[in-house]
Amino acid sequence: MTHINKTYQVGDITVTRIDEMRLNTSAVSFLYPDSTQAEAEENAWWLTPADMDATNHNLVQSIHSWLVRTPHHTILIDTGAGNTKPRPRNPIFDNLNTPYLHRLAAAGVRPQDVDYVLHTHLHVDHVGWNTQWVDGRWQPTFPNARHVFSQAEEDYYGSPESHNEVNTPSFGVFEDSVAPIIAAGQAERIGNDGGTFLDNFEFHPTRGHSIGHMSIELSSRGQSALFTGDVMNHQLQVVYPHWNTVFCEWQDDARISRRRVLEQSAEQHLLLFTSHFAQTSAGYVSRLGDGFTWHYE
Ligand SMILES: [Zn+2]
Repeated sequence: MTHINKTYQVGDITVTRIDEMRLNTSAVSFLYPDSTQAEAEENAWWLTPADMDATNHNLVQSIHSWLVRTPHHTILIDTGAGNTKPRPRNPIFDNLNTPYLHRLAAAGVRPQDVDYVLHTHLHVDHVGWNTQWVDGRWQPTFPNARHVFSQAEEDYYGSPESHNEVNTPSFGVFEDSVAPIIAAGQAERIGNDGGTFLDNFEFHPTRGHSIGHMSIELSSRGQSALFTGDVMNHQLQVVYPHWNTVFCEWQDDARISRRRVLEQSAEQHLLLFTSHFAQTSAGYVSRLGDGFTWHYE
């Protein structure tokens, strides 16, 4: 039986996580090269086994989409890593076979029902289900969807300029998961300054993890939430906002964007829908002394 996750209400809009996979493959020192052993040990006691694996002490992370249903549209935020994608440099995402589409169906959504796919950025674990291998080529999974992403991300990942050591995991991703969407005429771009989309969304530039990374604000009837993308990859970065992941491409910008998102989230009491936190992946940031603290919702 397929498990259906909790559904959140933001005004007259609902948000449900659609799971792809759960990882326990990254040690703190690997994912966060900025971390010290002392900082890692300081937190080992309060992180639950759902957040830090009790046997190998690796961080637990989720890969998923957020399904957003407005009174008018069915929308996905990001699309995981995808099935049967060749990722020889990245074994975690290589040639997967997950029941992601069955889980989407269990939530009542067929691929043809999806009206929009909004992307926080174009890394390997955020665009994978855009396409499937059908009849000898990569074809759009969601035939009626408009895919919305930052122009800067397309310009960069569509060019060999982006082929550097930090984004090795995303090699080949643009070609099999984004280019076919553009070729099918299903792409829409957001400018580098972000901006509003439909009635309920606003793209906020949060450059750093990637060149044109966007966090996406959702507002309805006076309530607001934020899809943070990879501004943070684990709740440890709420405690240590200066920690970048090993996959953050613009290090100084990533720290600035993270701090801004944390400050804004705490001040406005935004419900955050993260891309990779464990447990429910959703929750609130509050101020704690000079820093911040996280609680799941
Ligand atoms: Zn990611």
